[in-house]
Amino acid sequence: MTTLRIFGTADDSIVDGPGLRFAVFTQGCVHGCEGCHNPEAQDFAGGREITLDELERQIEANPLLTGITLTGGEPFEQAAPLLELAHWAQERGLTVWAYSGYTFEELLACTPSAEARELLAAADVLVDGPYVAAQASHALTWRGSANQRIIDVPASLASGAVVELEV
Ligand code: SF4
Repeated sequence: MTTLRIFGTADDSIVDGPGLRFAVFTQGCVHGCEGCHNPEAQDFAGGREITLDELERQIEANPLLTGITLTGGEPFEQAAPLLELAHWAQERGLTVWAYSGYTFEELLACTPSAEARELLAAADVLVDGPYVAAQASHALTWRGSANQRIIDVPASLASGAVVELEV
């Protein structure tokens, strides 16, 4: 049975990407950003375990969802189970957004793992980079600080250069 460690979930988020989204807040993060919006999600021993089956049941319970969002914490530290979840969601017509304190280029170079690159390749959109308090603004859409990019992953992989979404 596949499990992952989460800080929590939001079953009807309108702030973690477009439309109505099921957000999975993974537990554990290596980045230690100053001003982190979710410091309780940094401890890899914190949070709780949940099975993919249970998450999928919760997602299926809301037929109005547009997609799922993988955030944290650092979701790419648990890339293998999230890759399974991403494929499951896309088979049901849901889009997959992922947030990461790693950059697109780092994930493409298999940081922190080969599975992380696979999860990147499966995502429809990546919001990348650490939260930088000095560049934070409430005027930004779907990101906390201006250094973070909202990246069209399939277009970026196809063109070999980062393609940012216009929002
Ligand atoms: S990447 Fe996110 S969860 Fe991790 S320390 Fe930075 S703001 Fe906090």
